[in-house]
Amino acid sequence: MLIPSKDISSLNKTLLLFAIIALLLNNSTLVLASENEQQISYIETVPCDYYGNFSFNSTAANESVHWQVELGPRLPGSNASFALRESIKENLTDWTFEEETHYREDFYLTNLIATYKPFNSSSQEIYLVAHYDSRDRAERDDNESLRDIPIDGANDGASATAVLIEMGKIIPQMNLNHTVKLFFTDAEDQGERAGIYGSKAWAENKTDDELSDISAFIVIDMIGDYDLHFTHVWPGTSELWLTIQSLAEALGLVEGEEDCLGNPGVDVFDIDTSHGVIDDHVAAFERGVPAIDIIDIHSGEGAEKWGGYWHTHNDTIDKVSADSLGKIGQLLELGLLSNSWILNSDSNVTAEINETKQNTDVENSFALGIISLSITFGVFLIIFVLDYRIKKI
Ligand SMILES: [Zn+2]
Repeated sequence: MLIPSKDISSLNKTLLLFAIIALLLNNSTLVLASENEQQISYIETVPCDYYGNFSFNSTAANESVHWQVELGPRLPGSNASFALRESIKENLTDWTFEEETHYREDFYLTNLIATYKPFNSSSQEIYLVAHYDSRDRAERDDNESLRDIPIDGANDGASATAVLIEMGKIIPQMNLNHTVKLFFTDAEDQGERAGIYGSKAWAENKTDDELSDISAFIVIDMIGDYDLHFTHVWPGTSELWLTIQSLAEALGLVEGEEDCLGNPGVDVFDIDTSHGVIDDHVAAFERGVPAIDIIDIHSGEGAEKWGGYWHTHNDTIDKVSADSLGKIGQLLELGLLSNSWILNSDSNVTAEINETKQNTDVENSFALGIISLSITFGVFLIIFVLDYRIKKI
């Protein structure tokens, strides 16, 4: 029997596709396994009991985005990057700061971590995280000749940084009884594939013991778009996403749900739609820290995912909305006020989880790995045999 060469090539393509899927499955098993294994519980709270006079200043946040963009590209090691860090330290007088520098690729990056530890602080720490660097290139810009030029990063960088700075101004007046850290990561967006270098370096240098105090690690990124929509992102901690759902409902950011005042919500957060995103939450999550990423991957009205202004020279200040910054600011403010990110004391937090999680990760990954490798091997064997038969014919 002669198999037409056309059919063979399309059959080979299909088989190759299966092989690629099997290989991808192999690579993603660790992430999927770890998402399934994280077992924590936050204390029960009713956000509407804390709904009221919000202090978050969205106008000031918007002004900060302007100021950051005017500094020029906030590339690791640049004067603009230094000036931004100095400004953050000068603005947040009630906080203590640490800076950590790491050498990666061909640059030094500097993470900036601000700590507010109230007098009566429990041992739990809540991390609010944003990258303060801006991208060193515009690989998605229509104009090829401009692709090597750094972008403004008004939304991708400055927007979330501005929200964190404004949070830093109001947190000391909130009468919290747990520690909050504002983590300004560097070099999230550098290199060909945006390397999340700062948060990775941070996670690599933490002991399990240090990480076990962290009850929530909440990354915000690209949250200034006029047409703000964010969804469930994985990898991420399901329990932590559920707290975001309650808070978003309370604030009227979920379609089909009433806010605390009884008004119908609008479609800003959709927990039922999920996207895979590699961002600053990943390294912490992989170490067993409860972590999520609040990100709008549609830049511009009606933009495709990862489309629109993202990583182009259109990521400019005119695309950022004070109203959107305010929505995320209020979400974080209400989350802190309502103790939404405090773990039940019997959760006995992450150090233990770390250990069991890592073990189950390894077992699950191993089993899934064997299966997907067997599929890959089988498919390649079929391709080989078919090719051999064709050559023989
Ligand atoms: Zn980016």
